[in-house]
Amino acid sequence: MRSLYSLLNCEESASTSEIKSAYFGFIRRHHPDKQRQQESETSSTDDVIVGDQEEGNDLVKIAKVAWETLRDRESRSVYDNWLREQRLRQTVLVSDEVAADNLDEDEPFHACRCGGDYPISKEDLSRMVDDIIIPCASCSLFLRITRSNT
Ligand SMILES: [Zn+2]
Repeated sequence: MRSLYSLLNCEESASTSEIKSAYFGFIRRHHPDKQRQQESETSSTDDVIVGDQEEGNDLVKIAKVAWETLRDRESRSVYDNWLREQRLRQTVLVSDEVAADNLDEDEPFHACRCGGDYPISKEDLSRMVDDIIIPCASCSLFLRITRSNT
């Protein structure tokens, strides 16, 4: 799975200043304003540009979360634990799947077939770069949340 580190293109052992320069490098490459500039300089088709721009916006949003999370030692260690947990779950058998776009960002909720539900937090959604896996609170089933456009 991709992490906030791999999104910014830096090592997981990177120092805060290395993460900072990786973040600003990322913003320079992906910022929608820059893409609009390139758009007016080149004359490619509209369809392609719109798609690129939407994805660019989304990734820039996650990159901002990445920088806010990883610049602080405490929130970085919380994230590192979360990431470790996510990696351990990559091998579990997933019984249900939902797209992040179909969840309410303010009140993410998904019911499990056991009658319980998957405890999804806003943080889970904000820090996901690609798919994440969440266990049911009441049984042993797992839910995969997918991000369609990365
Ligand atoms: Zn359940």
